[in-house]
Amino acid sequence: MSVGQTFLSDFADDILVRCPDCSGCARLLGLANPDRPSIREGSRFVCLGCASFRDWSLRRSRSIPGPGAGPTLHGFELSLWLPRPCCGEVLWAYNARHLTFLQNYVAAPLRNRRPLKQVPLSNKSLESRLPRWMLSAKNRRTVLHGLKTLRDHLVADH
Ligand SMILES: [Zn+2]
Repeated sequence: MSVGQTFLSDFADDILVRCPDCSGCARLLGLANPDRPSIREGSRFVCLGCASFRDWSLRRSRSIPGPGAGPTLHGFELSLWLPRPCCGEVLWAYNARHLTFLQNYVAAPLRNRRPLKQVPLSNKSLESRLPRWMLSAKNRRTVLHGLKTLRDHLVADH
């Protein structure tokens, strides 16, 4: 696996959450400006199970999940679909792509985790922010097992 720079925000435009109405798997999507799709205007909660939905506009609230948000979505009355206790901490992922990133990263040989010298890692990158407990050799098998369990809980069409 090549070492690049990945940011939590790369995964934050489509977050799997638990629907507060039906407890099913729902999504929190980034709402973009139709004229300038690179600009995020807010977030939309949608549940396909019970048709519940809600919008958060950036004008009303600036609290959108950002790097370091952790398993809590600050500013939303929503919890992630995928948190799971592991090694006395909490394993979590925003969505299937995020989970794939974590599985590949934790499974990679240690030497592949070091960034190339000529490509300095930003300290905001996900690689440099993964917690130590998740990367420690003694927790590796438990963490990989926990990540696999998270994947088993993904709904098939995600
Ligand atoms: Zn629902």
